[in-house]
Amino acid sequence: MARDEIEEVRERLDIVDVIGDYLRLNRSGRNFRALCPFHSERTPSFYVSPERQTWHCFGCGRGGDVFSFVMEQEGLSFPEALRLLAERAGVTLKARQADKGAKDLYDIMNEAHAFYRKQIQAVGAEAARAYLARRGIDTKRAMLFELGWAPQGWDGLKRHFSTRGIPLRQAVQAGLLVEGDRGTYDRFRGRILFPIKDVRGRVIALGGRIISGDGAKYINSPESPIYSKRSSLYLLNAAKKSMREKGKAILVEGYMDALKLHLEGFTETVATLGTSLTEEQAALLKRFCEQCLICYDADIAGQEAAIRGMYLLQRAGLDIRVVALPEGMDPDDLVSADDGRKKFEELLEMAVPLPLFHIAAKRSELADETRVNGARREIIEGLAGLPVLEANRYLPEVARRLGLLLPELLRILEKARESMGAKDHKDRRIRENVPAESRQENKSDKTPADPLESAVCYLVWTDPKLRATLSPEGVLALLSDEVVQSIVAALLQGEDPAQLENRWHETGESRPMAVLAAGGAHLEEYDEETRLDVLLSALKRRKEQRRFRFLKEKKARGEASMEEIREFADLAKALKGGSR
Ligand SMILES: [Zn+2]
Repeated sequence: MARDEIEEVRERLDIVDVIGDYLRLNRSGRNFRALCPFHSERTPSFYVSPERQTWHCFGCGRGGDVFSFVMEQEGLSFPEALRLLAERAGVTLKARQADKGAKDLYDIMNEAHAFYRKQIQAVGAEAARAYLARRGIDTKRAMLFELGWAPQGWDGLKRHFSTRGIPLRQAVQAGLLVEGDRGTYDRFRGRILFPIKDVRGRVIALGGRIISGDGAKYINSPESPIYSKRSSLYLLNAAKKSMREKGKAILVEGYMDALKLHLEGFTETVATLGTSLTEEQAALLKRFCEQCLICYDADIAGQEAAIRGMYLLQRAGLDIRVVALPEGMDPDDLVSADDGRKKFEELLEMAVPLPLFHIAAKRSELADETRVNGARREIIEGLAGLPVLEANRYLPEVARRLGLLLPELLRILEKARESMGAKDHKDRRIRENVPAESRQENKSDKTPADPLESAVCYLVWTDPKLRATLSPEGVLALLSDEVVQSIVAALLQGEDPAQLENRWHETGESRPMAVLAAGGAHLEEYDEETRLDVLLSALKRRKEQRRFRFLKEKKARGEASMEEIREFADLAKALKGGSR
């Protein structure tokens, strides 16, 4: 990431325009105000400052610049947000060669998708339309979900690409054409196509369902430079807003299930792409919600691989509930039936926490003397992989259902944790390597900044003269927030703000920018001439008050030294004199 590129994007964009695309902004003095999109509220406490080009929410403490807003809102990493905003600003990023190739693949995929979408309305697609109609998808709905049709025959797309001058080599790379002994031919033939998009809404792959004849029921695009099956979910882009609003996701297996649930108003639904769940998918879901309701066919949900995948999501910090579907029914069947929507809602309400579901799935093994030990072990291993607090919630219930006494269960669980310790440690390391998505970072990120400290931080950040004259020792001793301390310390040691910011972007830290944005907002309450003095003396006074209370307690317990008693008396005098 080149710093001048980031600067150029920032300069060309107005934060008010960008945020205005997402929220209804109302002018309020020098700022704009809106209902915060990141926490629920009735009176707006979300402010955008055109002067500082920052945003800050007094309600939940989030804030930052135009990049951090887009990151939060769209659930993007910094490089992704940079690309998105660069496009908007018309800045061409000096992308690496690999990225340049990738851009072409997006275009090619888009072109193919447009071609297939046209086909579904054309002559020759009658069978496809009839098939969809039988499944409750009329043409209007098919268009809404941008479904396509790959005609029978071997070279429909290939010929289309040839007339458009698209290099066939790259179409092969995108997985749209296949290289065979006798030349290239279309991968998708006689199939209804579902577009698979990334989190930004770009088509990255296609899933094709056959409607007649031999062949696999589904074939999907192969992995490509722009498509990784492990880190994609069908309809994620369409579901993300709803997932954030509702705080949960519904996870199903099939394209058709996901689509039908969206049509019935369950717009927080996404589908896996015929694979077991992955760390990457867990991280994606975690960007938008806390809870995940898993809704698989009964016979699949109980399988080992499926349960392992669910625990993987739970380890990523999602609250996993499993929805029990009636035997032999999938979500599509359910919502298609009379009253289906209401029935499905009821099933969602009754979803059970994962460990309890696991016990239910192992019911027959638990009742079988020869298999009970193995089944118990698996359940306990699953529990041991969870964060302790999370697992504790289920222990009494689990003990009862496994026929163990609570202390017994605790002892076995402890042992399982120990033997898993090493492996889990490795898992966590892998997870934390994923930039901007690690959980710890998110948590501490949301700690609201102290108004006084962040205001001082903002002053030091924006005023080079101040940085040259302020004494580090004096200021740092007054600060208690570690992030504020480290920003101020770095600046007073002569580090350049732009450099610091670049480093935060690279490491994926977002709290520093939130602290600075909060500081800028708080600073508005102060008079420009006197604000530094006022802030520093307020901080000094607060520090003295803390010390005063500490010494007072110590004195009361009879533990204060002579020196401390003297200090206490001095402080009492100073605090009294200072109060107006
Ligand atoms: Zn907020």
